[in-house]
Amino acid sequence: MALFKLQNVEDFYEIGQVLGSGHFGQVREVCERSSGVRWAGKFLKLRKNASSRLGMERKSVEKEVEILQALQHCNIMALKDVFESRAEVVLIVELIGGGELFDFIAEKENLSENEAIEFIKQILEGVGFMHSKRIAHFDLKPENIMLLDKEVQHPHIKVIDFGLAHFLTPGEEYRSLCGTPQYIAPEVINYEPLGVSADMWSIGVITYILLSGMSPFQGDSDEETLRNIVEMKYEFDEQYFNQTSAMAKDFIQKLLTKDPTERMIAEQCLLHPWIKPLTRKQRANRSRSSINMKNFKKFNAKRKWKMSYNMVWACNRLCRLRLLCKTSASQDQELRKCESDQEDTETKPASLIRRRLSSNS
Ligand code: ATP
Repeated sequence: MALFKLQNVEDFYEIGQVLGSGHFGQVREVCERSSGVRWAGKFLKLRKNASSRLGMERKSVEKEVEILQALQHCNIMALKDVFESRAEVVLIVELIGGGELFDFIAEKENLSENEAIEFIKQILEGVGFMHSKRIAHFDLKPENIMLLDKEVQHPHIKVIDFGLAHFLTPGEEYRSLCGTPQYIAPEVINYEPLGVSADMWSIGVITYILLSGMSPFQGDSDEETLRNIVEMKYEFDEQYFNQTSAMAKDFIQKLLTKDPTERMIAEQCLLHPWIKPLTRKQRANRSRSSINMKNFKKFNAKRKWKMSYNMVWACNRLCRLRLLCKTSASQDQELRKCESDQEDTETKPASLIRRRLSSNS
């Protein structure tokens, strides 16, 4: 188990701008005082007592740390250090400065399947490594696929957010109702035993969206989306897939397979002819096909809009807590403690799926 340092993180790192925020706190840029090297600090608020609904249980933080420690791979966010105080744990992780993959793609004029495959291959390599360690991510979605640096010619993928990840023990069943509706596998919704194949389903959904700008199971409500997944209601609408190769559709189909045991695993994906063409004809087909950029841009704009809507919701909640705590706005550190000490009285939409329900579905 990682050593949770009891020293004050600010003695070692200068805390900088906010890079993003999640359910349990913020991610900020930090600068190591001794070396001047920039990292990211993930500030996770700890649950104050067992009956509290706010903050993360220490046990869950330990699990996330243990998982990150086991995952040293070039396509997975690296963990450097862990600090702990009364109210929070700070994970010092690799700074991933290139933003989300989907945002990077949405800025382009066009993208061939060949170029898209370069990214999918890297996702598969990271996820394949994770699975070889019997770790499932259980929350693969566009927000959790980032680029180390977007200014380079071949940007490097990094998978982030291991908050729902789990070590799967052979012979032990694991069930969970967590995830983000658009991306979760039918077995999650049906509360069946889960394996790494649940991540492969999510990769199928991500690939479908990447190529068409459409979300395969999206309904008008989360409930409808979940129903569409369980009923396997999806199709390759010609209107959105007219630039897509047959091999790409075959790849997706072999991931959006209801029976998890029939679904391709990461290793098989890497050998699928769409990813690794065997003939000149297969290679040529890939180069001729491209992603539906017009629709993809629309999808991404809508996704970002939903994310900022959720951010406003979270900010309003923070403001209320700030009033409750009567804390000075400039005292960030105090505020962080304060939020973890206050009970949240907000009622969230009721649903089967915990935690990510209202995120970006
Ligand atoms: P969630 O509520 O989605 O589980 P979380 O609390 O687990 O979130 P993350 O998803 O890990 O937090 O991070 C939240 C956001 O912070 C990310 O969407 C991303 O924008 C940003 N972020 C996370 N890690 C890094 C990093 N290493 N470098 C740069 N930005 C990061």
